[in-house]
Amino acid sequence: MLPRNRNRLETMPKPATSRDPNLRAIPSVDQLLRAEGVAQLRSSRGVSPLTTVARRVTAEMRDELQGQGLPGTKEQLLAEAVQRIHTHYQRETLATLRRVINATGVILHTNLGRAPLSQAARAAVQQAAGYCTLEYDAAEGTRGKRGGQVEQLLVELTGAEAALVVNNCAAAALLILTVLAAAGETIVSRGELVEIGGDFRVPDVMSNSGTVMVEVGSTNRTRLADYKKAMNAETRLILRVHPSNYRIVGFTDSPKLSELAALAHEAGLSLYEDAGSGVLNDLSEFGLGDEPIIKESLAAGADVVSFSGDKLLGATQAGLIVGRSEIIDRLRRHSLYRALRVDKLSLAALGVTLEAHRRGAFEEIPALQILTQTTATIASRTKKFFNKLYKNTTEDLIANLVSGESAVGGGSGPNVHLPTTLLAIKHARLTADEIESKLRHSPVPVIARIADGQVLLDLRTVATEEEPELLKALIALET
Ligand SMILES: *Cc1c(COP(=O)(O)O)cnc(C)c1O
Repeated sequence: MLPRNRNRLETMPKPATSRDPNLRAIPSVDQLLRAEGVAQLRSSRGVSPLTTVARRVTAEMRDELQGQGLPGTKEQLLAEAVQRIHTHYQRETLATLRRVINATGVILHTNLGRAPLSQAARAAVQQAAGYCTLEYDAAEGTRGKRGGQVEQLLVELTGAEAALVVNNCAAAALLILTVLAAAGETIVSRGELVEIGGDFRVPDVMSNSGTVMVEVGSTNRTRLADYKKAMNAETRLILRVHPSNYRIVGFTDSPKLSELAALAHEAGLSLYEDAGSGVLNDLSEFGLGDEPIIKESLAAGADVVSFSGDKLLGATQAGLIVGRSEIIDRLRRHSLYRALRVDKLSLAALGVTLEAHRRGAFEEIPALQILTQTTATIASRTKKFFNKLYKNTTEDLIANLVSGESAVGGGSGPNVHLPTTLLAIKHARLTADEIESKLRHSPVPVIARIADGQVLLDLRTVATEEEPELLKALIALET
């Protein structure tokens, strides 16, 4: 059959100009669109996009067959063309997770993969992608412990007795509630029965674990005495949930974690805190004083604490569990742990990221670097970018610098205001929706937001290396 050039579909070949009789054997775009082999694509992908692909395929075949001998029958050539169309769509679907430029200013954007990994973490993932020492001790030549290095770093960073890593924070909550309280009751404040973005609902996870949920207090006020009154012979656990992206303000009250711990311990019970994002170091100077500092939760007496790997920690999706060794051992031995354990790629990224936390090298962790970028830095980057854009576009493209706010996202710091400089874009011949859509359809999709009839771009979440691609996408608006 025909020689294949894998890159052909990416560049539009020159149309053939000769009257080579061989070329007449190549199916026309019309024939190709009517072919039975593409009937399904016609309905699933739509005629217009399919026409574009069909045009490319026929042009490509014409190009390849110029001046060659007759390569096959008409039927064979039609089959070949159909096959090429399918190959095109297969390649496209293979890359289901595409890189995007996040110009939304939302740092931990759940739809865009939350925390971006550091270069070191990316390299570690790359290394672990092949065979690796996941459960192997290369020095001794013996079986090793999965996640051992990461657990050690978590212990060091939080002062916990032991640590364990599972697939995400929801999995951590499910495992902890199952192991510690499936056979009895768990007490929780009504003000903490929250739903976090991405379908995590505290009451649902509790019911999945088998524990009986005992709600105490009211939505805005729960006192220590409310917990005390609810305790009985069936009580196994006291749960504290960080409300994350939900805030009750005004007339509120809840006991300190240390008071809850003392109450639990007096009765021989355990205290579990689902810290959500949590932080390893105090980030209150960036408005994140509400996020539990994991080390402090343990010091206050929590017996076990869970938090997410891809929120303010800045690594991959993971549920990090720290606490007393007796509890961690029970979690590790339970059969549910096997179903919830974390994979090698996440462990690789977590290890490197935790190591950066340990060295205090926060500038190496993109989520924190993006969060702590100064207003002046962002303003000056955006101004420079604006000037480049101005030089490369016509007056139809109207760009302005306006002040605005970035957001932490991922259910963390809902009240945090991060001042930023936005690039506001309008175009003489395009609506804001059209601009937004064109940017999304760029070779590397640019994700932006719309407000007041203009498209807003926040460079806070755009890496400096991505600026040329963003510039290209904006220049292409005019074509
Ligand atoms: C985000 C969050 C979760 C869920 O964490 P995932 O890692 O996304 O599963 C659970 N609890 C709280 C309090 C959270 O903020």
